[in-house]
Amino acid sequence: MIDLIPLEKVIKENPRVEELEKQGYIIKPEKIDSYLEDFKGRTTTLPNKEYWNEKIVLITGISGFAGSHLAEQLLDLGCEVHGTIRRHAVPMYENIEHLRGNIFLHEADITSAERILSIFEEIQPNAVFHLAAESFVPTSFREPVRVTHNNIIGTIKLFEAARRFNSGLESLQVACSSEQYGLVDPREVPVTEDLKKNPFRPRSVYGISKCATEQIAWLYHNSYGVPSIISRGFNHEGPRRGIQFVTSVIHRQIVEILENKRDKFVIGNPNAIRDFTHVKDTVNAYIILSEKKKFGEPFNVCSGKGITVADYVKLAKKIYNIDADVFIDPQRMRPSEVPLLIGLNDKIFSETGWKPVRSIVEIIKEGVEYFQAHPEMLGIEAH
Ligand code: GDP
Repeated sequence: MIDLIPLEKVIKENPRVEELEKQGYIIKPEKIDSYLEDFKGRTTTLPNKEYWNEKIVLITGISGFAGSHLAEQLLDLGCEVHGTIRRHAVPMYENIEHLRGNIFLHEADITSAERILSIFEEIQPNAVFHLAAESFVPTSFREPVRVTHNNIIGTIKLFEAARRFNSGLESLQVACSSEQYGLVDPREVPVTEDLKKNPFRPRSVYGISKCATEQIAWLYHNSYGVPSIISRGFNHEGPRRGIQFVTSVIHRQIVEILENKRDKFVIGNPNAIRDFTHVKDTVNAYIILSEKKKFGEPFNVCSGKGITVADYVKLAKKIYNIDADVFIDPQRMRPSEVPLLIGLNDKIFSETGWKPVRSIVEIIKEGVEYFQAHPEMLGIEAH
């Protein structure tokens, strides 16, 4: 039995966070109404249907969380949607089950250049979205070599295929990550794309793999003219989010408490601050950056507001009128943590008009609804 620690013993006051809150960068559950006010009537640039209609698109990692949402949006835009999936003895199509018959799947290991090139030659894609990667940070503490191989070698193989294919490819978007910024100096928040102001200080092999992913995309653009699109995605959440990620940990526990299957929350580091964006807004940014041909330079894709993990739980409790206590499981603390990530989205907004239009409350409600509809994903300990 693990000794759980009451939340109050682990919570840390942080004067810089208080300052950031005064400056409007932090979401507080007590002031959620004024935060939500900001979303009323908010609009964003949407993809141009004429541009996307009948385009042939390839999504690596289509059966993943972001991949499945991206596939939905591209289908709505009239694209012919193809995706790569890894072979599993028992197929893992849960996330794309509802798209059956509307998308084309190609079994491929992203680290196989021959296979990727043969898919390029067969389908002749106009746009590629590269999402196939190990995405859970703790996996990279436990299996650093495998994560390096998948994420870095996989990206090189994809770009090699794109370089050789060289016909009709209008964009190749790569999902880079806020984890590249890593151990951000609190005085340097909110984080911009400018590495002189916000250098990369990755805190995990995952973060390193995403720095490399970005540099590969940059290199192949500058050396070989591959039309690379570099998005630095901050945390994106919503339905179908993998069960180990913190929002899903909390959403599942909400459902279990509502169904009287548990009586307390158990989480890891409550002091970590993240900038959460709804996955539908995030994939919309990927599409818009590709359509607007923003080649070879990075764009933060983020909401511009942060919240502590403890306050995320508090907000979720408030929405569902739950009164359960919160405990910390020391086994969920990471050997090396990224304590504070809040991005600035001014660049993508000024160059494309993209803004997130879905609030953190929608993330919570849709995340919880998803697990209410998927009881088979409850009651599993995964971290
Ligand atoms: P990440 O930002 O890509 O690592 O996304 P995660 O959702 O895995 O973690 C976000 C933050 O939540 C990290 O700082 C974690 O340490 C923190 N956290 C707190 N409790 C948990 C938990 O139970 N599971 C996970 N995955 N993260 C937690």
